[in-house]
Amino acid sequence: MTEKLYLYDSYLKSIDSVLTGKNGNVLTFDRTIFYPTGGGQPSDRGKISCNGNSYEITDVRKNGDEVEHIVSGMPDLENGEKVHMEIDWNSRYMHMRFHTAIHIIDAAVRRMNRPGILITGSQIYDDHARVDFDFESFDSAMASEIIGEANRIVSSNTDVRIREIGRDEALQIPELARTEPGKRLIQSLEKVRIIEIVGVDMQADGGTHVAKTSEVGKIMLRKIQSKGRRNKRMEIYLD
Ligand SMILES: [Zn+2]
Repeated sequence: MTEKLYLYDSYLKSIDSVLTGKNGNVLTFDRTIFYPTGGGQPSDRGKISCNGNSYEITDVRKNGDEVEHIVSGMPDLENGEKVHMEIDWNSRYMHMRFHTAIHIIDAAVRRMNRPGILITGSQIYDDHARVDFDFESFDSAMASEIIGEANRIVSSNTDVRIREIGRDEALQIPELARTEPGKRLIQSLEKVRIIEIVGVDMQADGGTHVAKTSEVGKIMLRKIQSKGRRNKRMEIYLD
């Protein structure tokens, strides 16, 4: 099992680690700071170095309890060797800012108290993110209202905290178990990792986030699109 340091400290940019498995260009380590693709957040990229050689990590994926690192070329490495790993921090930090922005948008939507608007999905890229809504009469005025409220939360410079709680405790928190897929996810876990924007939002989540809402920067609306009668999409970028 890979120890997943990114779950506890999103700000680790480089560490030393030991190779525990190698299958062609797929590597596993005893511990990692590389985030694997999941939850709408792309994987980290970066490099590992060992004995004066350096290798690019081009993709990272989860396989059960292991985190698999895809390396370009055939690495000259053996199990038990110590490597130095370093993530592409610029891209990771953008993902952290966008991931936190999406939580803030979710909280802004709930604060507006318009029953029936539901966020159905999101995807993060290096330079923008999209958020999908289920709401028939979504328009640019409503999108601007959401972004305005979200930016008030950003400016409040609220702490974003990570903690782990037990499944039963998590199911008792109405904010966490508010959607059916969310409830099913929590029921399947023994321990639930909670991301809390203190006093604003709480979500069960495996992604990486910033520590203070002001780090997100100003959320800007790029466009809204209609993807169907009720399926609306909003694209944002950060200033
Ligand atoms: Zn998140």
